[in-house]
Amino acid sequence: MTRLDQRLRVLRQYVRDEAPALRTAAQELDTHPDGSTLYPKVPLLDRLATLQVPRRYARNPLVIEGHEFLVASALERVVFHEEAAAHGDAALLLSAPGSLTAGMLVAALGDDEQQRGFFERVQERPTWTFLAMTEPHGGSDAANLRTTLTPCDDGYLLNGTKRFIGNAHRSPLGVVTARTGAGPLGIRCALVETSHPGCGSGPIATLGMRGVLGTLDFHDVPVPDAHLLGRHLSPTRRGMWGWLHAFNPLRCVAAALGVGIARAAYDYTKQHLPRRRATPGRHLDALGARIRGVQALTRSAAAAVDADPANAHLPAAAKNAAACLAVEATSTALRLLGPGARLEHPLLDKWARDAHGIEYMEGTSHVQEQSVFNALARADAAHR
Ligand SMILES: Cc1cc2nc3c(=O)[nH]c(=O)nc-3n(C[C@H](O)[C@H](O)[C@H](O)COP(=O)(O)OP(=O)(O)OC[C@H]3O[C@@H](n4cnc5c(N)ncnc54)[C@H](O)[C@@H]3O)c2cc1C
Repeated sequence: MTRLDQRLRVLRQYVRDEAPALRTAAQELDTHPDGSTLYPKVPLLDRLATLQVPRRYARNPLVIEGHEFLVASALERVVFHEEAAAHGDAALLLSAPGSLTAGMLVAALGDDEQQRGFFERVQERPTWTFLAMTEPHGGSDAANLRTTLTPCDDGYLLNGTKRFIGNAHRSPLGVVTARTGAGPLGIRCALVETSHPGCGSGPIATLGMRGVLGTLDFHDVPVPDAHLLGRHLSPTRRGMWGWLHAFNPLRCVAAALGVGIARAAYDYTKQHLPRRRATPGRHLDALGARIRGVQALTRSAAAAVDADPANAHLPAAAKNAAACLAVEATSTALRLLGPGARLEHPLLDKWARDAHGIEYMEGTSHVQEQSVFNALARADAAHR
């Protein structure tokens, strides 16, 4: 799947036209990651905040040239995020309000009442949300989490700490993974409101993706029974199984952001490279070919996930390739633009720092490699 159909080309053009307005705000966020002026009114982000909602709960789909978009399928999300990162900025997208990561879990694990409540709230006004899984002792080992949900009279009490959580410090609600009991079936996801006094949050200072990440601390935060996701599902489907499936489209989005950063760096270098220097042209041509390859892989992965949400290895392969590509493209761009490029081209410097964040979000490259290896090993075993 390398070419987009007419409908998706319309979506891409819309994002391409709107995205350049993100860049000024992105530089402001990079300079003042803790600033309260973080979310200036950028129409594209305002619009995205009300999208990514399942059809059943969508109130205000995006309509362009007679085509309707919810930006809820993996492929629509990929087209949107790649283009917005290529012509705008990936970090600003990740720091924007909306349902992106939490919404995936709510859609995968929530019953009708939970989904309706969550998606109506994010559509009422731009609302930040978070998905809190990673803990201080190690994010890759997600099954070994220590945050607990302890039963009490009218539900549960939440205790624990989460780190490196997108928008943790600015969201009124989100989804938290926690343990109700031992073993993999004891892991559950809960909708959590951060207004309770037992819930503390703060920003994390980072080198790349500045202003995106925060921490969350929970001390006896009450979680009503009705906020535990997956009540209507069998015990094997309501915990890890559910969120592992929700991660497949999220990895496609992370891959799209990586491709977008690479394209932004590539276009920027073509525009700013002195014309008299011919040799860099060869490097840029090779980079352009790599970008097209990873872009095609990412689109194929998204189409495969839309056809079968359990498809894990293609999103993993795409995310891994895109994370490497983003780092390679930005460092090539800095090299070609010569000594002092980081100082002379602050946007490029920013993307070079942001690129390293792609490797870690939605599972590190090692974790993706294991997923691809497992799929190959299973296929190999099936053919013996
Ligand atoms: C931009 C960004 C956004 C993020 N957003 C969120 C979010 O919204 N919610 C959230 O919960 N988390 C989020 N994260 C955190 C992210 O999910 C974690 O960083 C990631 O899971 C890795 O966890 P860790 O940082 O604790 O590293 P660790 O798990 O400690 O890993 C450290 C290193 O060891 C390697 N490693 C670990 N285990 C293995 C293994 N079994 N085999 C081989 N190598 C291994 C890893 O690949 C890595 O190189 C975000 C991170 C970034 C950078």
